Amino acid sequence: MKKIIIIGSGNAALCAAISALEHGAQVTILEAAPETEAGGNSMYTAGAMRFVYNSKEDLLPLLNDPNDERIPNTEFGSYSKEKFQSDLLSFNDGKPLSLQQNILIDNSYETLRWLSHHNIKFDPIYSRQTFEKDGKFIFWGGLTLEAEGEGVGLVASELAAVRKLGGKIRYEHKAIKLLSEGLKVTGVICETPEGEIEIMCDHVILACGGFEANKALRKEYMGEQWANAIVRGSKYNLGAGISMALELGAAFEGNPDGCHATPMDMHMPNYGNTDIPYIERKNYRKICYFLGIMVNANGHRFVDEGINFRNYTYAQFGKAILEQPESFAWQIFDSKVDELLYAEYRFWDASFVEADTIEALVQKMDGINKKQTLETILSYNNAVDHTVNFDPTILDGKATKGLSLNKTNWANTLDRPPYKAYPVKCGITFTYGGLKVNKNAQVLDQSDQPIRGLYACGELVGGVFYKGYPGGSGLTSGAVFGKIAGHTAANA
Ligand SMILES: Cc1cc2nc3c(=O)[nH]c(=O)nc-3n(C[C@H](O)[C@H](O)[C@H](O)COP(=O)(O)OP(=O)(O)OC[C@H]3O[C@@H](n4cnc5c(N)ncnc54)[C@H](O)[C@@H]3O)c2cc1C
Repeated sequence: MKKIIIIGSGNAALCAAISALEHGAQVTILEAAPETEAGGNSMYTAGAMRFVYNSKEDLLPLLNDPNDERIPNTEFGSYSKEKFQSDLLSFNDGKPLSLQQNILIDNSYETLRWLSHHNIKFDPIYSRQTFEKDGKFIFWGGLTLEAEGEGVGLVASELAAVRKLGGKIRYEHKAIKLLSEGLKVTGVICETPEGEIEIMCDHVILACGGFEANKALRKEYMGEQWANAIVRGSKYNLGAGISMALELGAAFEGNPDGCHATPMDMHMPNYGNTDIPYIERKNYRKICYFLGIMVNANGHRFVDEGINFRNYTYAQFGKAILEQPESFAWQIFDSKVDELLYAEYRFWDASFVEADTIEALVQKMDGINKKQTLETILSYNNAVDHTVNFDPTILDGKATKGLSLNKTNWANTLDRPPYKAYPVKCGITFTYGGLKVNKNAQVLDQSDQPIRGLYACGELVGGVFYKGYPGGSGLTSGAVFGKIAGHTAANA
C-alpha cells in the first residue's frame, strides 16, 4: 500500500485524499493550522464551481435538491467547452490555452460528477447568478452551482468523505522542508507543537495554497504596491509549497505577478473579520459596481464598470483599485438598483454613506476630490443612452456615449434618491503563478522532467490562470488536479 502525505487541508488537498484513498493508498494530511482554522481559502468561498454542462439534465444529478420548486421555472442555459475555452483565452494575453487549462476544462464536469458520488452535493446559485425576468430565473454568467453550505459545507462534506475512506489528518503540522534521496522525494519535515518531526512516505502531494498571505513574497514577485493589498482568505497560505518545491529544483510556471483580487469593503481587516463565522466573512466583498459607477480619489472613473458580466471582471478590478491614487475607490448607486445589489451591500458591517441628493452624497464621501466627482457624475448622467432598455440578464448594450471612458452595458443614470456610496479597496484572493505540473499533476523540474514522488494541486499550480479569472474556476481547478494527483500517486 502506497503511503501518501498531502500537505494542506483545503478543497484541493481533500480531493487528492479522496482520490488516493479510493485507489487504495494510505493517506495522511498535514495541516499547518489548528483544527478551528483549517481548510484554507476553501472555507472562505461561496463554493461556486465553474464547469462544462450542456443542459439542465447535466445539472440534476449534482443537486442536493433536484425537486426544488424553482427548477422548472429556471433557465440554466448551458456552458460549453468552447465557451470555457474562450473565457480562459480572453485572459491569456494572446497565449494559446495551456496544458493545465485544457485539463481543467476537459475534466470539469466529470470531476463534479465524481464529487457528487462522494456525497458532495450542489445548489443552484439563485442569489448571485440569476436575475428574474418575465417570472423566470435566468442564469447569465456560465456559473450555476455552488456546494451545499458554500465553502464551509464543501470542506465538511469532503472531509467526511476522506474520513469515511480511512484518511487521517494531523493539525498543527506545518511542512517546512521536503526530504529527498537522490532525485526522489521521500518525506517531509514539519513543525509541530512537540517540535520538528520527519515523516517518511512514498509520495508527497503539495496542496498548501499560493503565496497571497505572504507580504514579502507579494512584494518580491508582484511589486511593491501589493504590500497594500488586504488578504481576503487564510493567513496560512504563505507560499511554503512553492518554496519547498523550488528548493528541490522545480520549475516556476505562469505570471509571477498574476492574482485574483477583488473590490472589498474599505474597513475589512486582513483575513476577513475572523471574529465572525466564515460564511459571513465574504460579505466584505463589494462587486456590484456594474450596476453603478466607481470613482477614484481624484474623482475620476477608471474602469468600464459594465465591460462584461461581473464574473469576468470582479477578479481583475481589485488590481485596478490598487493602482489608483491611495489605492481606494468609491462605488456609487441610486435607488433604482438598490434591490439588485447583492445581500453583502446590506451586511450589518458594510461601510457606506447615503443622501437624498448627489451633492450631499459627495460631501459625505471621504478622501476624494468632491468637485471632480460631481463633474464625473454629471457628465456620466448626460452621456447615458436612453434609447436602450436596462436588462441585467444580458449584455444589454445600454451604454454611455462620448466619454473618454465609456460604460458599455447597464449604464443607468444616477438620478433616483436616495443615493448610496460604498468605499472599497483591493483584497487579494489568491496568486496565479506556481509550480509547473504535467498531465499527471507531477511537479516538473527545469528540464520538464517529473520530480519523482512529488505532485501538486490547487492554488499552487501555475499556468491555470494568467491575467484574469472567470469566477468559480479556482475550486474546480483544485478538484480536477487533486483528483488526478491522488490517483496517479496511488497508482505510481
Ligand atoms: C473569500 C474568498 C472567496 C472565494 N470564493 C470562491 C468561489 O466561490 N469559487 C471558487 O472557485 N473559488 C473561490 N475562491 C478561491 C478559492 O478559495 C481557491 O481557489 C481554492 O479554495 C484554493 O484551494 P486550495 O486547496 O488550493 O487552497 P486552500 O483552500 O487555501 O488550502 C490550503 C491549505 O494549506 C494549508 N497550509 C499552508 N501552508 C502549509 C504548510 N506549510 N504546511 C501544512 N499546511 C499548510 C493552509 O492552512 C490551508 O488549509 C475564493 C477565495 C476567497 C479567499
